[in-house]
Amino acid sequence: MESPDQTMPRAYVLDDEAEIRAFVCEVLRRNGFHAVQFSTMPSLVEQLAVEPSEVLILDLALGQSDAVEVMQHLERLGYRGKILLISGRDGDILRDIQNIGRSRGLSMLPPLGKPFRAGDLKQRLQANVEMREIAPGGPSKGSTVSIDLAEALHKDWLELWYQPKVDLKSLTICGAEALIRARHPEYGIVAPAGFLPPPNDPLYLPLSSFVIRRAMSDWARFAAGGNPLKLAVNIPVSVISAPGFVNLVRASLPKDPSFRGLLVEVTENEVVQDTELFREIANQLKLYDVWLSIDDFGSAYSTLSRLLDLPFAEVKLDRAFVSNCGQDAMKAVVCQTVIDLAHRFGADVCAEGIEDVEEARALRDRECDIAQGYFFAKPMPADGLLSTMLAPNGPFDEQVHSIRNLDHCRSGTTIKS
Ligand code: C2E
Ligand code: MG
Ligand code: MG
Repeated sequence: MESPDQTMPRAYVLDDEAEIRAFVCEVLRRNGFHAVQFSTMPSLVEQLAVEPSEVLILDLALGQSDAVEVMQHLERLGYRGKILLISGRDGDILRDIQNIGRSRGLSMLPPLGKPFRAGDLKQRLQANVEMREIAPGGPSKGSTVSIDLAEALHKDWLELWYQPKVDLKSLTICGAEALIRARHPEYGIVAPAGFLPPPNDPLYLPLSSFVIRRAMSDWARFAAGGNPLKLAVNIPVSVISAPGFVNLVRASLPKDPSFRGLLVEVTENEVVQDTELFREIANQLKLYDVWLSIDDFGSAYSTLSRLLDLPFAEVKLDRAFVSNCGQDAMKAVVCQTVIDLAHRFGADVCAEGIEDVEEARALRDRECDIAQGYFFAKPMPADGLLSTMLAPNGPFDEQVHSIRNLDHCRSGTTIKS
């Protein structure tokens, strides 16, 4: 899937006919949408949990499923975009399905009967969705949106998204990292690179306060659903060492007995600046079941043994070492060294940025404890994480199967699918 221009509204197309999908996407692109096509319902639902769209063009009959089933999922996901039904079936059926969508609280556009012309689709969208005409040749690539953090805080645009962390032994979700996002009224979802200020900026204080409070209130929602996940938040050293940080954490922690503690991720380069300060804070936080984790380990060339002498609960192996570690012998050695040393000091190792089954497998073989990365799931809103954990066949069924399948292939047997 090509990477979207953050400023373009997203449109998803679900149709089992490849020609229709291609045609609709082309019309959408010409009208300023970032269009993504899906041929099956599960792939669409998975993507929606990660990144909702402004509009969804939905065919009634989809081979293995249908529009009613899709709309049931959309209701569960709290989908707020517009839905445009398209079908070659007669008007009565289209109207009935349209009414089912409405009764589920979805925002239904007037449906379109097939065949339709590009102008019909454009007119339907123009009347109902905010669009921008774009120059032939498409939108400019690689533009990053920058917004003002002070404004985002003031106008309540900030959201916490969550990326699941997977226990590599049991291949189940064991926690999640909270990652900040802004939902800009014009640009849509903006990543942290678009608004995080330079280190030591005073705005990190209100940002971190938002992050800790929101993470703990989301934790209560996950716990209420039977998943008291261990969450991790990213907090800069300027905030951790400021007076009042321990009080803020203490006041935000849940009193629930199923609370398994909070991880606070601090980047390696910040830790090395003042290790003694970290020893004191880490020891104090332990009293509240709050543990420090070294983020982006491997990016600041420090000695792990010196860092691990501090009471860290986790080391996060930087993606630079994880990527391709199944093939690259040098990277594999580095990963193994970090894992062995961390274990000797009683810390867990979490590999960041796992993108394929080979990387997951190589780290599992090396007894890495936890994995996080697009291979399992991209960061997603709290509702998306809730629905992922409640997925009918268990979360990451496909990924777990491919890791296990590789186990068996190597030992000479293959799991039947
Ligand atoms: P990080 O803490 O190291 O977070 C991991 C980053 O890697 C996230 O980017 C995540 O989306 C991305 N990532 C996860 N899996 C993969 C993968 O398989 N492949 C690739 N290419 N990337 C992957 P994101 O969310 O854009 O965050 C970037 C950085 O912004 C974070 O790096 C963290 O340093 C900072 N950040 C995020 N949220 C917060 C926050 O709430 N407060 C503060 N102070 N900083 C934050
Ligand atoms: Mg982090
Ligand atoms: Mg990191």
